[in-house]
Amino acid sequence: RTVYVNGEYLPEADAKISIFDRGFLMADGVYEVTSVLDGKLLDFAGHSKRLARSLGELDMALPIEMDDLLEVHRELVRLNDINEGMIYLQVTRGAPSDRDFAFPDPDETPSTIVLFTQNKPGLADTPVAKKGIKVISIEDIRWGRRDIKTIQLLYPSMGKMMAKKAGVDDAWMVEDGMVTEGTSNNAYIVKNGKIITRHLGTEILAGITRNAVLRFAEEAQMTVEERSFTIAEAQDADEAFVTSASTFVMPVVEIDGAQVGAGVPGPVAVRLREIYLEESRKAAI
Ligand code: PMP
Repeated sequence: RTVYVNGEYLPEADAKISIFDRGFLMADGVYEVTSVLDGKLLDFAGHSKRLARSLGELDMALPIEMDDLLEVHRELVRLNDINEGMIYLQVTRGAPSDRDFAFPDPDETPSTIVLFTQNKPGLADTPVAKKGIKVISIEDIRWGRRDIKTIQLLYPSMGKMMAKKAGVDDAWMVEDGMVTEGTSNNAYIVKNGKIITRHLGTEILAGITRNAVLRFAEEAQMTVEERSFTIAEAQDADEAFVTSASTFVMPVVEIDGAQVGAGVPGPVAVRLREIYLEESRKAAI
């Protein structure tokens, strides 16, 4: 695989980062994952906008022009011959000469930028979407700025392991009795034809897929309500699903052992997945 590190395209084995990089020492960095379908990028504009916002919130600069960043994405897709898959991008606060809690002077310590591809043939047509996934609920004990897409992903990783241990696919996190989001996706329920998903705020990440799906839902005359909900309400819903850049719209058929609706992917989730894939492919660049 050919990867991109600080201005260079390199074989992955030759790509090196300092042990003093603050991404490595302190999880001081942000990331984005952009999907590739038909060799084209899905919603690059959305991902680059959120990247700029995440960096701004942490007083970090993007070490490359946005136009050049698009070219790096495209070049990696080309060099690695990706038809379906993802591009991972990470920007960290770089490698100062010593470990220190205070941020280094950005003029002396340039940030580190890394991009690599993940080849996932069959990503859009995965059989998992036809079956749906099962989730458990866990307490959300993450930090309070979940709107920033930081690389501190230890608790979501632990949540994923708790799900695996329980024999299911993922976990929904709950704070003050209300569902925040999945370990790496936004959570939704459908009741009497209405799509319900938590309102934006510092408690959840503003998913790029969420934004697109809510727009497509409204264009298709579906009703959307942005508010928080409990696990009990979700278990009693007609449908449930999650969205993320790499799973698109994924039906949820079981929550904490209780079947949701008929226990199979519901019509709203199935329809939204179709619309999302169709519209995103059309708009891909
Ligand atoms: N919430 C969290 C916590 C996530 O990690 C992700 C995916 N990175 C999402 C939501 C979904 O965001 P997106 O649709 O931009 O992939």
